[in-house]
Amino acid sequence: MIELLDLKKQYAAIREQIQTAITEVLEDQRFLLGPRTKGFEENFAEMHGLQHGIGCSNGTSAIVLALQALGIQPGDEVITTPHTFIASASAIINAGGVPVFVDIDPETYTMDARAIEGKITKKTKGIVPVHIYGNPCDMDAIKAIAQKHQLFLVEDCAQAHLARYGNLPVGSSGTATFSFYPGKNLGAYGDAGIVLTNNAEHAAWMRASANHGRTKDSGKYLHAFIGSNQRIDELQAAILQVKLPYLNAWTESRRRIAQIYDESIRKKGFKTIKEQTNGLCVYHQYVVEVSNRNELMSRLTQEGIASGIHYPVPLHMQPAFKHLGYQIGDFPRTEQAAERVISLPISPDMDDSEIAHVVSVFTENARL
Ligand SMILES: *Cc1c(COP(=O)(O)O)cnc(C)c1O
Repeated sequence: MIELLDLKKQYAAIREQIQTAITEVLEDQRFLLGPRTKGFEENFAEMHGLQHGIGCSNGTSAIVLALQALGIQPGDEVITTPHTFIASASAIINAGGVPVFVDIDPETYTMDARAIEGKITKKTKGIVPVHIYGNPCDMDAIKAIAQKHQLFLVEDCAQAHLARYGNLPVGSSGTATFSFYPGKNLGAYGDAGIVLTNNAEHAAWMRASANHGRTKDSGKYLHAFIGSNQRIDELQAAILQVKLPYLNAWTESRRRIAQIYDESIRKKGFKTIKEQTNGLCVYHQYVVEVSNRNELMSRLTQEGIASGIHYPVPLHMQPAFKHLGYQIGDFPRTEQAAERVISLPISPDMDDSEIAHVVSVFTENARL
């Protein structure tokens, strides 16, 4: 089977390093707040050009912590996209806010910056741009709107490790959250995430909040405020440290596969992800629109090719968000994408014959 992301193949290539790293943690018997966490936080923050990294339990916690550090209050509105994984919006609710959706740009699949100002009210406090599929949002436009209306930004980079906008990695607005869910471009062996920030005060607050409200000064037995338990653990940090040096090569490989797909698939008239102007997409998913998705997916399965849908149900149509009061038809471009998108394998270790097999089965069976 050609997988969307072949984690078994990836593991086989780094098995010895991973086993050594895990064994070292087991020998140390130090599982939290240790040297691997610190090392990984520093390395990952540096790779993205930000000053502080706070490892946490998953990418959803990372968004919640970031919103809280930026001062979100109950009822505050935060603008985001309905074309994303549920956590982009559920984290806003978990932090006490109200997600307000704007439709996507149908070419890049990222939030349509031109739609944002129409959604700003007196209650709007921030924007969560989501670099969906690893394609950066139109950050120049979004930053200008945030500045004009004094809104905070939390970049949801869960799918966008090492993606770039302009000359900088994503996150350059100052607060960025990442997920290391196993299937992400950089994946742990369980749940993990990180918040990056350039604000030292926010960093200290988030570190304390994720650790039961313990500050540097309060020590082990005093809790300066009511936090929670949202820490990353040393095993995950050690695994991520082993994988991190490979991330550049994996990213280049994803981009190379996407380029080969684009050449054959676009030539046939299919719509695929348009890389953001001034952006560098890291293709967390390779997405193409078709009119015969179900039939095509079974055909791909028969030919030994995995496929996926990211995402079939837009957030404004999720039962969980019924109370937000949206209707079918509110975000037509998101709804059209949800009906038509299919994700093809983009595992960095794919060889040329596998790529060619995907292209030929796709082009022979997909309908415009
Ligand atoms: C995966 C993901 C998250 C949540 O990350 P978890 O680590 O699964 O909590 C948030 N936003 C987006 C866009 C994601 O893809």
